[in-house]
Amino acid sequence: MTWWLLPWTIPTLLQGYLIGLLAFCFGLVKNPRFYRGVLQWDWRPWFEARWRYSTTIGACMGLHSRRGKWTEYHEFIHIFQYEDMNLLGAVLGGLVCIVDWRVGLIVWSSSGALWLVPNFISGWIRNGDPYMGAEHELSAYSQTERASR
Ligand SMILES: [Zn+2]
Repeated sequence: MTWWLLPWTIPTLLQGYLIGLLAFCFGLVKNPRFYRGVLQWDWRPWFEARWRYSTTIGACMGLHSRRGKWTEYHEFIHIFQYEDMNLLGAVLGGLVCIVDWRVGLIVWSSSGALWLVPNFISGWIRNGDPYMGAEHELSAYSQTERASR
């Protein structure tokens, strides 16, 4: 997390910590730790046998045991993308607050993982793959590849 963005990234923090807590309650994860404000977990063996990805939702990162050297770097790019969406959500939510503070709060608190849904849909339509075709994934993979050279 970028500390000076913290006031605007509260939705990402809360969504991530809540999802991490739910993942723990459902027995998906183990070894919790915090790194730069991000809650990191390791997938439990039964779960990573079914889910072969490391995944970041909000400020929660689930890491696969067979992750590559640059996986955490890639996942932190997603954290930065969430921060960007939260900042935009705060601006839009703040403008909506002029009319109705409750709707403004909904706009801001929805910014983050929920705002990625259109990326998956357009990635599927445009590139035939909702995951690898999504622009935020293309960007993260591109940045990871560039950094690893
Ligand atoms: Zn990714």
